[in-house]
Amino acid sequence: MPVNKGKFEELVAELRSTNTMLVAVSKTKPVADIKELYDLGQRDFGENYVQELADKEAQLPKDIRWHFIGHLQSNKVKYIAPFISLIHGVDSLKLLNEINKQAVKSNRIIDCLLQVHIAQEETKFGMDDKELDEAIDRSAQLTKVRICGLMGMASFTDDMEKVRNEFRYLKTLFDQHSQSQTSSLKLQTLSIGMSNDYKIAIEEGSTMVRIGSLLFGERNY
Ligand SMILES: *Cc1c(COP(=O)(O)O)cnc(C)c1O
Repeated sequence: MPVNKGKFEELVAELRSTNTMLVAVSKTKPVADIKELYDLGQRDFGENYVQELADKEAQLPKDIRWHFIGHLQSNKVKYIAPFISLIHGVDSLKLLNEINKQAVKSNRIIDCLLQVHIAQEETKFGMDDKELDEAIDRSAQLTKVRICGLMGMASFTDDMEKVRNEFRYLKTLFDQHSQSQTSSLKLQTLSIGMSNDYKIAIEEGSTMVRIGSLLFGERNY
C-alpha cells in the first residue's frame, strides 16, 4: 500500500491549527515509506520494536527524531539509548532506572513519557495511579532522564464515549502532576490519540498524536 501523501498534508494542516505534534508511526513499514514522508518534511517517527528501530535509524537521515512507542524491555534500552529522542512507554521504575543508567553511559539526557494504564483492558501496559506517583517522586533522584509527560492508550472499542472518558481521566492526572516541577520533571507532553481516535484525543487535550495506518496503510504482521 502506498504512503497516503494527501492524508499526510491534510493531517499536518489539521494538527497545526490545534498545535498538536505528529509522530508518524512507521512500525513494520519499509525505510522507503519513511523517506517519502521525510521528503515532505516529517521528522518525528515512532517505532515499536528495538531491532527494527536500530536497523532503520542506521539507514535514514540523522535529523529524524525517533520515538520509541512500544513496550520496552529493560535489557534492550542500551540499543536505543545513544539516539532515541523520546521514549513514550515507560511503565515501571525498573525501566526508568535502566534508562537513567544507559543515559549516563551515552552521556546524554533521555526524555521519557510515563505510560498510564487507562484502558479497561487487561492487555494494555501502563502504570496505575500509585505507580505513577512513585515514579514521579523517584524521578527527582534521576539526573539523566527527564520526564516530559504522560502517554496512554484507550480501549480498543467502537464506544467513543468510553474512549473519551479514558483520555479525560489521563488529562486530569496530567494537570495534577503538571503543578510540580524539578530539573528532571516537567510535564508538557500528553501523548494520546491514534488513527482511529486522534480527533477525540485532541478535543481532550492531546499535545502529541501517534498515527500509523492512516498515513502508511494497514499493517500486515
Ligand atoms: C501502532 C501504534 C500506534 C499507531 O496505530 P494506528 O492505529 O496505526 O494509528 C500508536 N501508538 C502505539 C503505542 C502503537 O503501538
